[in-house]
Amino acid sequence: MEWIYAVINFVILAGIVFFVGRKLLGAMVSTYREKVREDLDRAGQASAHTQALPGQLDEIRVREERREEDLLAQTHRQIQENTRLSETAGQEERQAVETAAGAEARALRRDTHARARRDAVSQVLERTAQLMAEDAFAPARAALTERRLAQVAGEIFPTANDRIRIAGGEGIEITVTGAEPLTDTQRRALETDLRRRLELPDDAPLTLRDRPDKSVIGGIRVTVGDTVYDGTLADQLQRIGSREERTLPLADPYEVIRSQLMAEDKAFSAYQCGRVVRISDGICRISGLSDVMAGEMLAFDGGLRGMVMDLEQDDVGVVLLGDYTRLQEGTVVRRTERVIEVPVGEALLGRVVDALGRPLDDAGPIVTWMRRPIESPAPGVPDRQGVSVPLQTGIKAIDALVPIGRGQRELIIGDRQTGKTAIALDTILNQKGKNVICIYVAIGQKESTVASVVQKLREHGAMEYTTVVCASASQPAPMLYIAPYAGAAIGEQFMYAGKDVLIVYDDLSKQAAAYREISLLLQRPPGREAYPGDVFYLHSRLLERAARLNDELGGGSMTALPIIETQAGDISAYIPTNVISITDGQIFLESGLFHNGIRPAVNVGLSVSRVGGAAQIGAMKQVAGRLRMDLAQYRELAAFAQFGSDLDKFTRDALTRGERMTELLKQEQYVPMDAADQVAVIFAGNEGYCDDLPLERIAAFETELLAYLHRELPGVFDAIHTGKKLPEEKLQELRGAIEAFKKTF
Ligand code: ATP
Ligand code: MG
Repeated sequence: MEWIYAVINFVILAGIVFFVGRKLLGAMVSTYREKVREDLDRAGQASAHTQALPGQLDEIRVREERREEDLLAQTHRQIQENTRLSETAGQEERQAVETAAGAEARALRRDTHARARRDAVSQVLERTAQLMAEDAFAPARAALTERRLAQVAGEIFPTANDRIRIAGGEGIEITVTGAEPLTDTQRRALETDLRRRLELPDDAPLTLRDRPDKSVIGGIRVTVGDTVYDGTLADQLQRIGSREERTLPLADPYEVIRSQLMAEDKAFSAYQCGRVVRISDGICRISGLSDVMAGEMLAFDGGLRGMVMDLEQDDVGVVLLGDYTRLQEGTVVRRTERVIEVPVGEALLGRVVDALGRPLDDAGPIVTWMRRPIESPAPGVPDRQGVSVPLQTGIKAIDALVPIGRGQRELIIGDRQTGKTAIALDTILNQKGKNVICIYVAIGQKESTVASVVQKLREHGAMEYTTVVCASASQPAPMLYIAPYAGAAIGEQFMYAGKDVLIVYDDLSKQAAAYREISLLLQRPPGREAYPGDVFYLHSRLLERAARLNDELGGGSMTALPIIETQAGDISAYIPTNVISITDGQIFLESGLFHNGIRPAVNVGLSVSRVGGAAQIGAMKQVAGRLRMDLAQYRELAAFAQFGSDLDKFTRDALTRGERMTELLKQEQYVPMDAADQVAVIFAGNEGYCDDLPLERIAAFETELLAYLHRELPGVFDAIHTGKKLPEEKLQELRGAIEAFKKTF
């Protein structure tokens, strides 16, 4: 009987198994089928996306091109409008409008191009970023993250500060940011890699924080201490963007970005980062950046630049070089690992640039790879030689009485509106054809003033050999502070290439004021007259860079004409005395003289050139001695002669001579005079040929005499140009010619 029960049990069991199993199997098969279908769907979607990608990008491109065309058409219309306008205007007016319209249209077109390109690049980039963040690309993104995780340890170099921390047993903090959180395996592998790379013993603490962030799109970013190793897609796109925005002429942004993404030249960008903790007018303090250098340039998000001024235990003080109104606390700052530098070389000639060497004129970008740090040590004693070659200013009162030699530093000092800039400007104009490169650094002046200076230089054809560095009054104080150093760097490049350079700093009192502002904001203690303690060093390290190099170094020179503005003629104030003591002499301009019509208003008694005499040409030396004596006598006598009417002959003669000579030294602006002409004129005055002329005839006498001598006695000018003293027979010839001329005058 038992086997019957067994059979019945078996049948029941088999039945149950069959029913349940069939159901289960069915369910399994159908979910599997479902899954496969989903996978297929997803793959289909992905490939559809991928196929659509070029189409979408093409669409963007077409749209951009159309936009660009629109903008160009708009510009074109503008030009036509301008031309039409110009045709209706009168002849003279028309020319003016045409040139203005042409320049305006050119500037507008360039501006439109640049803007269109920036927009196109940023749109393509934005769209690319969106596409890459879509689900279809998830596997590709995960693969990228894996690849970057394997690479990152190889990129890491512990900084000096990291080493100190590790050696001190403090351990190290590492933050990892990817689009997704790390898996346990990834985390363990990364930790092992990093420990090996940082030579961190197994028991030393290592904090690994995982901070996933969708905005990185793909790849990973690893922060070790302050240093960031960025291998994310977001960073790569941003790098491509900042490179592409600046590229001109227009290449197709879509093509460029695609090929650059494919090329993937540099997987990681490494930089040290800090964060803004405090901001006050143009100054901020930044935490982090433990390895930063003094004077280093920092890059803020959004293109703003800064320069490191203070290095302290916990933070660094940074001056901001540009518009900082949108800077916020917590903003990330990157190191650039370069001290502030400017482009230098021939490309700068004829250009107007700001204190960072960025163009301010509309002549396009400055194409040069040559750069120089704005601060560099002055040439040492053995590198120099004495001043022996004259630098002609073309101004009688200066070339005769306070001669300047190449490589000298001569201060121009005086109250406001006394013709300081005029002297510097005339000196630049006079360098035409003399193989001297000029640099005019405008510090803290009104933009309109600088524009008219540039205009004057252009009119006289002097821009060809001149660079204008401009930090105008509207720019932040740090720009005013660095402008002279930037100018000096541009000049040095030429000096070390064996050329002669003239550099004008107009004016250093404004630079000192800017430096005071920065220092007070950096909370450095003020010194005398609220200037910081190192303000003397500010100017001495600048002016020491002017030099005449010895022949082994090429024999180049840099002549500096710093300008200082005094208050009510007080040359014994703090900044003026400092700069007087650093320079090789000063040209003192007086407003009293200026308003009495004695222009240039050089106070002959208080002006001096301590080394320029050695560089004066021989013939000028011959005549200048007498001139200086006559003027000194005149000054002494003039003061008390105004009280007495009854004067002896000697006094009367001295007064007559002095008056005539003072009149003869007057000179209009923008008409620099050749050295030989100056000698001839002063000689005539010294010999008393003007004594019987009324004062108002002196100017006419001068011009006509020179015209006569050039016609009748050209040999004498050649003799003066040789640089030697004039022999007695030449002097006799000259006297004869002047007497002959006087008979006709
Ligand atoms: P600021 O303090 O404003 O910088 P400044 O001392 O540089 O002034 P300038 O701008 O050079 O002075 O000159 C002041 C005015 O005097 C200008 O209008 C200039 O044209 C005029 N001027 C300067 N030198 C002469 C000159 N030799 N003959 C005639 N006018 C002159
Ligand atoms: Mg001036």
